[in-house]
Amino acid sequence: MATAVSADPLHPVTSEQAEAIHVRDLHKCFGELEVLKGVSLTARDGDVVALIGGSGSGKSTFLRCINFLENPTSGVIRINGEDVRMISDGHGGQYPADRRQIERIRSRLGMVFQNFNLWQHMTLIQNVIEVPIHVLGVKRDEAIAIGEQLLERVGLSEKRDVYPAYLSGGQQQRGAIARALAIQPRVMLFDEPTSALDPELVGEVLKVIADLAKEGRTMLLVTHEMKFAREVASHVMYLHNGVVEEEGRPETVFGSPKSERLKQFIRSVS
Ligand code: ADP
Ligand code: MG
Repeated sequence: MATAVSADPLHPVTSEQAEAIHVRDLHKCFGELEVLKGVSLTARDGDVVALIGGSGSGKSTFLRCINFLENPTSGVIRINGEDVRMISDGHGGQYPADRRQIERIRSRLGMVFQNFNLWQHMTLIQNVIEVPIHVLGVKRDEAIAIGEQLLERVGLSEKRDVYPAYLSGGQQQRGAIARALAIQPRVMLFDEPTSALDPELVGEVLKVIADLAKEGRTMLLVTHEMKFAREVASHVMYLHNGVVEEEGRPETVFGSPKSERLKQFIRSVS
């Protein structure tokens, strides 16, 4: 087991809190532009990590590196206790040595994006059972039974056979959460799940996410909803220009921020 990078005395490691995600000194460049400049994070089972920061600070890139939608330029990423093996591309970058390892890792991470990208040509239940059946090899009956439970949990049982185009943004995003949960992920990754929603629909999606947090789900959540982050997060990371400028317990980060930048940021979003 690795040493925690963001060791927190108020949040001690116990055997029940195994490490789910460990990132150390992650760098990501797009050409000359260095977007992540050595970001580290350890999330244990049950942790809810809120990632906050201004636009362009590298939040999405960080999440995308964790499930290898982007290849990190350097650094260590360990998911489920598995170090991801990378090979140098000879040009200062690297790529995963084993695609099957990446697929295995992705199958443990449920990702929910800003734009609730449900598959438009499939009904809600079809969206939810697609990956379990066709990628994970779950039997159809079983996948449907689990899918129906998940739709019930996000309050969408009645929309089971409806196409996404006939759903509100809030319903689509709740459907996307059900779809991400259907792979039975160890960690849920949320990238600004409510940013694209009309204000009156934000609450219903936050409620679903808060319920997941209460159930003890491990999550990494990029959000601009500061009040929500303060309520649900066990750890908050403030990213500025690809660097973790400040991090800690939510009551500390929001209640007595040290960095001027963070103070300013909190003022600007609340
Ligand atoms: P955030 O999610 O915090 O708003 P992003 O991670 O999306 O920030 O972006 C961080 C920086 O990286 C921005 O300057 C953005 O323009 C740049 N960036 C993101 N993706 C790419 C890409 N594929 N190619 C080039 N630059 C990118
Ligand atoms: Mg983003």
